[in-house]
Amino acid sequence: MSNYNWCHGPSCHKSHTQDRIRGVKGSKVLRTKKIKHSDWNSQDRYNMFNYFCSQNCLMNYISKHLQSITAIAPRTEALETPIDVVKEQKTDYFDRPYTSTRIITVDNNGG
Ligand SMILES: [Zn+2]
Repeated sequence: MSNYNWCHGPSCHKSHTQDRIRGVKGSKVLRTKKIKHSDWNSQDRYNMFNYFCSQNCLMNYISKHLQSITAIAPRTEALETPIDVVKEQKTDYFDRPYTSTRIITVDNNGG
């Protein structure tokens, strides 16, 4: 297995930055960035920055392939999380009363 990936951003090779310039005078190109595996992205295949050099390249990829990505795990109905809404009377630093609202997740599975 190689120790790098090419950035998957569809327009990565079109960004005008010095670190993308390759080739000799007269035949220079802008090249897709190489992402080397390092301590911070390690070999973790779930780390998106193993595949994208920047958030911009990630968002360009998502925009281009959104229909295919959402088809992998389609959301056909809304999800719900059971909660309790608890209102509590509290006092602030200056002893002024205020109402605090807390949302508490309810575990209906018996825990
Ligand atoms: Zn990129």
